[in-house]
Amino acid sequence: MIKSHKRHSHQSSALPFIMFLMIQFLFSSAQAAPSVSRLTPPSELFSSGHSNPLIARFLPDQRFDLQATIRPEDDTRSIVSARFLVDGAVIGQEVALKNCSSGCLPGIPKNSVIATVRAVSFTKPGIHVFSVQANQNDGATVIATGNFEIVPLVSGGQKVKNIIILLGDGMGAAQRTAARIVSQGYAQGKSVSPLAMDTFPVTGMIKTSSLNSLVTDSSPGMSSYVTGNKSNNNEEGVFPDDTLDNFDNPRVEYLSEYLKRTQGKSLGLVTTADVFDATPAANAVHTSNRGAGTGIVDQYLDDRKLTGLSVLMGGGRKWFLPAQTPGSARSDKSDYEFSTSDLHTSAIVKHWGASSGLMDKDRDLIADFERSGFKYVPDSAALKNLDLSKTDHLLGLFSLSNMNVALDKIDGRRNAAKGIKGRVVDDFGFPDQPMLDEMTQAALTVLSKNEKGFLLMVEGASIDKQAHNMDTERWILDTIEFDKTVQLVQSFAKKDKNTLVIVTADHECSGVALIGGSMVSDARLQELVKEGGGTNLRDKVVGIYEKAGFPRYSLDTDGYPKTTDIDFRLLVGYGANADRNEDWRTNPLPLQDSQQPFNKIQPLSAHPADPMARDLEGRLTITGQVPGTSAVHTATDIPLSAMGPGAWSFTGVLDNTDVFFLLSQVATKGVLVPKIY
Ligand SMILES: [Zn+2]
Repeated sequence: MIKSHKRHSHQSSALPFIMFLMIQFLFSSAQAAPSVSRLTPPSELFSSGHSNPLIARFLPDQRFDLQATIRPEDDTRSIVSARFLVDGAVIGQEVALKNCSSGCLPGIPKNSVIATVRAVSFTKPGIHVFSVQANQNDGATVIATGNFEIVPLVSGGQKVKNIIILLGDGMGAAQRTAARIVSQGYAQGKSVSPLAMDTFPVTGMIKTSSLNSLVTDSSPGMSSYVTGNKSNNNEEGVFPDDTLDNFDNPRVEYLSEYLKRTQGKSLGLVTTADVFDATPAANAVHTSNRGAGTGIVDQYLDDRKLTGLSVLMGGGRKWFLPAQTPGSARSDKSDYEFSTSDLHTSAIVKHWGASSGLMDKDRDLIADFERSGFKYVPDSAALKNLDLSKTDHLLGLFSLSNMNVALDKIDGRRNAAKGIKGRVVDDFGFPDQPMLDEMTQAALTVLSKNEKGFLLMVEGASIDKQAHNMDTERWILDTIEFDKTVQLVQSFAKKDKNTLVIVTADHECSGVALIGGSMVSDARLQELVKEGGGTNLRDKVVGIYEKAGFPRYSLDTDGYPKTTDIDFRLLVGYGANADRNEDWRTNPLPLQDSQQPFNKIQPLSAHPADPMARDLEGRLTITGQVPGTSAVHTATDIPLSAMGPGAWSFTGVLDNTDVFFLLSQVATKGVLVPKIY
């Protein structure tokens, strides 16, 4: 409920609207009044006046910030003080008032203030009403009210020691099915064998929308699982605000931070992406800009005492090299430093115990990790040779940005074994990158040393990135690589008996649809492509229903298909596609990757720039339904599979934020008997 302002549109359900008119009437005879245009944590009570509790939810004792954007009535007046109340009791912490004369978003009047108190927490379960009260210099006041919930945890059975989140980025049901068809085969209308993730005893469906969009990106897609709260797209571990600063947003405590602070658990992050990327960062870093790479990687190290970060592996060396080093992407533009003289940001340091950051583009961050006790490995051989019995903290950076995908890593390994160089991994300059399961094996060994347990997040990142590129074989092989990791983690958890594992995604990517199978051999497909048949090519190749048959891929000793260019192959369509040319044959080169610091120079300029720059010969252009050169995420629910103690709670249709509370329940209070009725 908002007692005094004029800027909010109110929805038209009768009762709240009538109350709103009455309140407006009461204040219309009063003096000029200030207003509150944002109140955090977000709630439907504040934004529309509805008492429906669509609100932020927290664990007992989970920390978060309270914030309000307060606008004076006009530009001759100012806000002189503000205080926050929860359930009618004033929060004692000094309120930081940031003046919007500079540093606020366009559209926020310059004489507005942003009032914040940091790192508050509450233990009493239930819905709490909170408000901000502010005073204008002429004596006028404003009160705005919202609500949030403290979700009760109840005593249960076995308290789970370790939690492992296996996150296939962009992995919807179709991506899982495609990996099963290619790696396990079908006969007699049945899959010959299941994926590892198919064998998990419990599967549910997850709703993935973010705070400001039906269609999420990876930042809130991941952080919803580990904060219990929605955030805007591109934001991780924070609520939205009205300032330009990427690192000053109202924070919400991560599962990693909560479990480190209350139980001493460690955090491990393993990804095939650049380690600054949204999914890994949305477990440990608080920022409203997923692209602020220098600050993100600095925060991994500088706030490791808050998160328990002990293992960090993936690509992304470009953020760790001093600015002058070739390949470095460190820049003050993507970094942060909290001013000690400004209560708005220094309170983050004081109340959260966070590092104040530093503009330090010349920092040698690998050396700083090593000084802090991390062993550093730059390639697969170094990872294999590392004495893990003597390793408690592990940093692995296997490429400058995103690692190469499974298809190209496997191609590199097979050719290197025959003494052949010049493959894609050689183009990138990183011929010896580990597979995801190899990184994960090392992470499990290191993290298992903490007898208080660990939280490990493992990301198969390029399931998403290659689906964006509509590069079918590349995302399928990345899903197979991911499932091999699922299998490894599954056998760890079976032996350990004290580990809960969930396999899920942050969102679906590209509207992948398994439309059928090719009606021709690969040799005939190549002839048809050369003939440049356009839609005639499509009509001769695409087999639907019975004509699709069952594609039969065969696996090599490394567990990946001998070739993806088989006769009568699997065919994939994209429901969220950009324009592309299609010939259904495996693309010899991946698309250029804008994240790579060297992508403008030889030899990578030979890689196609976008999906219209490849497969030209067959003259078959498929018109996209979205603008741009990249297929997009969709709002479709995604599957989540679970195993281990507490797995039974992950059934049904859940919101992604629900997952946080289910994980927290089993880690802090123990497994509950499922209710089935
Ligand atoms: Zn994506």
